[in-house]
Amino acid sequence: MISEAMYELGSKRSTIRELFEYGKKRAAIVGKENVFDFSIGNPTVPAPACVKESILEILETEESSAIHGYTSAQGDLEVRKGLAEYLNKTYGLNVSADNFYMTCGAAASLCISIKALVESSEDEFIAIAPFFPEYRVFTEGNGGKLVVVAPDLASFQVNFEGLEAAINAHTKAVIINSPNNPSGVIYTEETIIKISDLLKRKSEEYGHPIILISDEPYREIAYDHTKVPYITKYYDNTIVCYSYSKSLSLPGDRIGYILVPDEVAESKKLYAAICGAARVLGFVCAPSLFQKVILKCMGQTSDMDVYKANRDLLYNKLTELGFECVHPDGAFYLFVKAMEEDAVAFCEKAKAYDLLLVAGDDFGCPGYVRISYCVDQSMLERSFTAFKKLADEYQNI
Ligand code: PLP
Repeated sequence: MISEAMYELGSKRSTIRELFEYGKKRAAIVGKENVFDFSIGNPTVPAPACVKESILEILETEESSAIHGYTSAQGDLEVRKGLAEYLNKTYGLNVSADNFYMTCGAAASLCISIKALVESSEDEFIAIAPFFPEYRVFTEGNGGKLVVVAPDLASFQVNFEGLEAAINAHTKAVIINSPNNPSGVIYTEETIIKISDLLKRKSEEYGHPIILISDEPYREIAYDHTKVPYITKYYDNTIVCYSYSKSLSLPGDRIGYILVPDEVAESKKLYAAICGAARVLGFVCAPSLFQKVILKCMGQTSDMDVYKANRDLLYNKLTELGFECVHPDGAFYLFVKAMEEDAVAFCEKAKAYDLLLVAGDDFGCPGYVRISYCVDQSMLERSFTAFKKLADEYQNI
C-alpha cells in the first residue's frame, strides 16, 4: 500500500539531521554552552539589512495579491529580468528572463533538473566525491542512477582518471559543487577547463551532450579573493542550480533558481522539460515575497568576513593540534582526516567530548570528517579544549 522506497527515506533521518537532533537533546542535559555542534550548515550570520528593509518596503507598498499571490509558474518576470541583468553585468553573460526558472532553493533546483533529464532508469548522473549526500536521494528519487567518482585526496580537486572512467553511453550529467560542501575547496580554472574538455570529448564520443549541473549555493562564500569561475563560460551544456540559502542566509525561506542558457543543446526543449518536471514535483511558483526580496537585494550578501574569521581560527588551531586538513578557500566547512581509519568510530569518540562532527562516509569519502563552522565564534573557541582532548587520545597512544 505504501512505497517502501519513500518509507525508507522518510523513516530514517540523514546522518547530519540525526546528529543535529542528538545535539539538541544533549544541550537539554549538559547545557547548550557545553555542546559543540558542528553538524549542520545552517548559516549563523544574519541576513543582510537589505532583506528586512525590502520585506518592510514590499509589505508597505505593494498590494496583498502581488505579495502573496501566485506568480507565473517559472517565477515573476521582473525578478527574472533583474536576475539576467545582474548576471550579465557581473559575469559578462548574455542571458535573459526566459533562461531562468525560480525555485525553492538548490534542493528543488537539483531535483527539477534531474527529473527533466531522466529518460530511462539506466540514465546515470555522476557525482564527484566528496559530494553533498542528498545528490543520491535527488537522483534515485527522480528515476536516475548515481555514479560516484572517488576523491582526489591530495588536493580535493577532481580525480580525472576516475571521472573519465565513470563516463559511458548512459551518462546524462555530471554534478559539480564549488565552493564545495564538505571540502571547502574551490575548483580552479584549470580544473573547470579540464572538466569542460573531457565532457566535450565524451559528448562527441557518445553522440549526445553530457550536461554539467553546477550546484552553486556557496558561490559567494570565497575567501582571499579566490576566483570562482562562472561555469557556463567554459562549457555550453551547463545548467546552474543556485540558492540564496547561504549567500543571503535565507535557508528557511526557500528561494533559488535554475539557469538554462541558450547555448545548452536543445535549450528551449530542456527549459520546457524543467517547467514540466517542476509541475510534476509540485515546485511551481517559488515563494513570491522572497522572489521580490532577492530582486531588491541583487548583489548583496551576508557578512562573509565572519565565516573567514572562523575558518582562520579553526584551521590554524586544528592544524596546530596535529589534525590534517585541506586548506578551504570557500563555503563554511573544514574536511579533516580522522585520526583513525574508521571516521564513524572517530566521530563516536568525539561525541564523548560533546563534539558533533559528521563522518565523511555519506559524502563518498570515508576516513574524513566534516566540521561545519557557520557557528558562533565563542562556541568555536570553547570547543578547542574538546578538540585537544580528542587529539590527545590518539597522540598519547
Ligand atoms: N547543495 C549543497 C552542496 C548544499 O550544501 C545544500 C545545502 O546545504 C544544498 C544543495 C541545498 O540547499 P537549499 O537549502 O538551497 O535547498
